[in-house]
Amino acid sequence: MAMEELAAIKKLDFNMCMQCGKCTGSCPVSPKSKLNPRRFMLETAYLISPLTMHPPLNIQEKGELWDCTTCSTCSYRCPREVKPMDVLIGLRSLLVEAGNVPSTLGDALEGVYKYGNPWGLSRSKRQEWTQDLKVKYASEEEKIDLLYFVGCAASYDSRAQVVARAIVKNLNALSIDFSILGNKETCCGNEIISLGEKGLFEEIAGNNLALFDRYGVQKIVTTSPHCFHAFKSRYGRELAVKHYTQYFADLIDEEKIRFSGKIGKVVTYQDPCFLGKHNDIYDEPRKIIESIPGLRFEELGRSGKRSVCCEGGGGRMWYDIPGERLAEDRVREALDVGAEIIVVACPFCLLTFDDAIKTSGNEERIQVKDIMELVAETL
Ligand code: SF4
Ligand code: SF4
Repeated sequence: MAMEELAAIKKLDFNMCMQCGKCTGSCPVSPKSKLNPRRFMLETAYLISPLTMHPPLNIQEKGELWDCTTCSTCSYRCPREVKPMDVLIGLRSLLVEAGNVPSTLGDALEGVYKYGNPWGLSRSKRQEWTQDLKVKYASEEEKIDLLYFVGCAASYDSRAQVVARAIVKNLNALSIDFSILGNKETCCGNEIISLGEKGLFEEIAGNNLALFDRYGVQKIVTTSPHCFHAFKSRYGRELAVKHYTQYFADLIDEEKIRFSGKIGKVVTYQDPCFLGKHNDIYDEPRKIIESIPGLRFEELGRSGKRSVCCEGGGGRMWYDIPGERLAEDRVREALDVGAEIIVVACPFCLLTFDDAIKTSGNEERIQVKDIMELVAETL
């Protein structure tokens, strides 16, 4: 078994686990999967220190490890401050090391390795969405004070591109000077490390940090909470990074945003796991939404710290499991509070909800939009 990966797992606090089961009880995926974080805590202890009556866990048979969305609810709810999610990611790395990865996830990893994005699309097409927009690209001639880091989904997916276009439109409307990396941009690696592919993640992080240095990047704003989280917490260097919700909430505080239009709809908001549970960012998105004139904001039944994952994180954008998607359940919750628009702040939420609205047959009743789309419509 891979010694380096095992050594990394040993450093985690799995021995503090008292088997209370709060992690499994709060895991949104476990009701439809064999995924059981409590059991993994126990089995990890046997893996590290096998006992005669408990033969070591055969980790290579634990395919349910891929079902985890890395939503972090288990880590968040654990009374012993054990981090079951980190242990699961550590166990995933043992599967990666053995090449035991579902084919669609293998394709996503290969896409990032070869082309810098999990869809395996050409690097030369990354900035195509900017063709008719006023955008400054990184160049050796000028240091970048504000870098808008677009991310893979918003660069390549036609629905998520609408969000990138809205961010560019909003920054330009507010006369904010910014640059993008264009075709030089590459994956942030957040989903790569979540899948347990540490080697590839380290390579990506090193390359991205070198790019930031090369262009003298001072501040970074991201489309995606996943990129934000990677830069903030996983790159091992302090970076001045904000998710766009933080950046635009600050602009509202500074009275730099004046809305001229209105949205006459009832809206609700899905907290993205990588903003909320991972980073405690709950107020800023709501501040922007509630500043938009004309709309009525209704909280979902389970929101903020009690919010439920859309099921798009941790590699699950490229790996489906049987059963109703969590986003479909959330669409029903949104309809229950009378919402006409589910507002999101994450490209993965946008895509999973877009899909869930269609698969649940609710296209006539409800839409999903990113906060930046609403801002672009009303600025
Ligand atoms: S919530 Fe924490 S202490 Fe309880 S079973 Fe899960 S990991 Fe162990
Ligand atoms: S991170 Fe989320 S999906 Fe994964 S085990 Fe924990 S609660 Fe379940």
